[in-house]
Amino acid sequence: MLKQNAATFGPRAALLSDGSEPLSHQELWDQVTSTVTALNRLGVGRGDRVAIVLPQGPDLAVAFLAVAAGATAAPLNPAYLEKEFAFYLEDLQARALILPQGSDSPARAAANSLDVPVIELTSGALGTGRFQLSGSSRALATSGGFAEADDVALVLHTSGTTSRPKRVPLTHTNLLASIRHIRATLQLQPTDRCLNVMPLFHIHGLVACVLASLGAGGSTVCTRAFVAEEFSSGLERWKPSWYSAVPTMHQAILAHTQTLRVQPRESSLRFIRSSSAALPPPVMAGLESAFGVPVIESYGMTEAAHQMASNPLPPRGRKPGSVGLAAGPEVAILGELSETVATGRTGEVAIRGPNVIREYPNNPEANATAFRQGWFRTGDQGYLDEEGYLFITGRLKELINRGGEKIAPREIDEVLLTYPGVQQAVAFAVPHPSLGEDVAAAVVLKEGAGVSEASLREFVLDRLPAFKVPSRIIFVNDMPKGPTGKLQRIGLAERLAAALVVEYEPPASDLERRVATTICEVLGREAMGRNDNFFSIGGDSLRATQVLTRLEQALGFQIAVPTIFRCPTPALLANALDLMRAPEIDALAAELEKLLPEERARLLGNL
Ligand code: AMP
Repeated sequence: MLKQNAATFGPRAALLSDGSEPLSHQELWDQVTSTVTALNRLGVGRGDRVAIVLPQGPDLAVAFLAVAAGATAAPLNPAYLEKEFAFYLEDLQARALILPQGSDSPARAAANSLDVPVIELTSGALGTGRFQLSGSSRALATSGGFAEADDVALVLHTSGTTSRPKRVPLTHTNLLASIRHIRATLQLQPTDRCLNVMPLFHIHGLVACVLASLGAGGSTVCTRAFVAEEFSSGLERWKPSWYSAVPTMHQAILAHTQTLRVQPRESSLRFIRSSSAALPPPVMAGLESAFGVPVIESYGMTEAAHQMASNPLPPRGRKPGSVGLAAGPEVAILGELSETVATGRTGEVAIRGPNVIREYPNNPEANATAFRQGWFRTGDQGYLDEEGYLFITGRLKELINRGGEKIAPREIDEVLLTYPGVQQAVAFAVPHPSLGEDVAAAVVLKEGAGVSEASLREFVLDRLPAFKVPSRIIFVNDMPKGPTGKLQRIGLAERLAAALVVEYEPPASDLERRVATTICEVLGREAMGRNDNFFSIGGDSLRATQVLTRLEQALGFQIAVPTIFRCPTPALLANALDLMRAPEIDALAAELEKLLPEERARLLGNL
């Protein structure tokens, strides 16, 4: 595909980014071929799995494309902790790890402990997606050159029922099928340009935003981070014809439309796409009225190389609340015996087609559950209406979909259970206004154990990335059971609804009041109690940054982002800010000490 693009679209832009010249289709192909040669020299060949831990941006996009062209790419979330990197490197049996030159990512320590060779990527001033690889030369263990259709191009992991993520191997055939499907649904042309805000270690960004765009001979702008406040200037600057995002990002963009410098209706967009989690119909309506373009909700999954169903572009109708029509693979609703159920009846959503993986490697249990009679069972529940539109109504799999990030609750249980004093722990999904779902956990303590919610959350934060840490941890005497007496994670939020309510207590100091007011301004709320959790009442990581920026401006000192994850209530955050503020006050006091008594009195009098 990339070689053909170079021949057909040569000098036209393929990838764009801030601060450097665009990379053309020809230059992209040149970079891919030189990278494959470099990988072969470093002992990496066809079928070798290469973990990639790079910051968002064009280098990551090109590294993914190039590694997939000559080996197997396994991009990993840079937010992982060392233990998680070690798990992924081991599970992948990684032949190498690509890191930015000089990076001190915990991935390096994990690679060192497992003897996985590190390949360093140097981009410096070379420009959009142009980089060099360096490392120790090794002999190839497999064949060199370019991959073929049945080679695995991309490996990602999905959260499963167990705490152990499942490896998902996607071949070039799978990816090319998905590219065809997405291009057809979105009617992508060489003139189309995608503004990518999705992380490039997730299937959504990799396949919809990068591969489908390039597959159409179009271009993608590789942003380095999603910043809702900068989205309007991105539209103005790059004039994209579309963007795709998760509902949480759409909500943040919508919240900023009032402050857009360009009138949204005058933007260059042809359509907006949403996927990876349910798009609330009011957000869809809000975006359509703000931008004056259709909003297309799609249904995707890693095992399907992303797209399974999608609402169509006009003139065909899109239905709010539906994920649309089968858009590539066949879609069926299956009953418990794998029989297809009648239109309008609810069952498990199943798919089959050229974009779907054939199996999970070395995972007979997962294969037995997921693959039945030629179908892949998604673990999602839904129904098809008379016109073939799919509605997702629930989930059979134990998974928390936190704003598009999929989290295996058992992983959180296991961490909580290692805390001294914890006897039983069950993480579960709770509804959340902007994330769709958030993580909560119920804990039964051993007799006599005194454990606080804050110390337990702190413990989890040290062991898991922030997005997996429960916003609420509640203590219960007994874990509620389902009708059969078995513990049922799904539905726990309803059964524990009363325990999840936080009694209102007004802020108790000026600083607590300032924190509460700032959070209320960002979340558009009237009031907030001193023990209300920012994340539970509608906060997310995007809004966390906004809260901290406002507090920094008001208080005059910098606040590290993790602070709000560790201290998510006005009471806790105000206490932490007080401690942070102390050194400055001490420094001021020391300065005052140096002054003559009368000068000191005059200065303090003036204050
Ligand atoms: P992932 O493998 O991360 O893409 O996650 C796939 C899962 O995300 C699906 O099995 C669904 O549970 C969920 N999902 C994806 N798209 C949607 C959507 N439009 N509406 C509701 N859930 C979705």
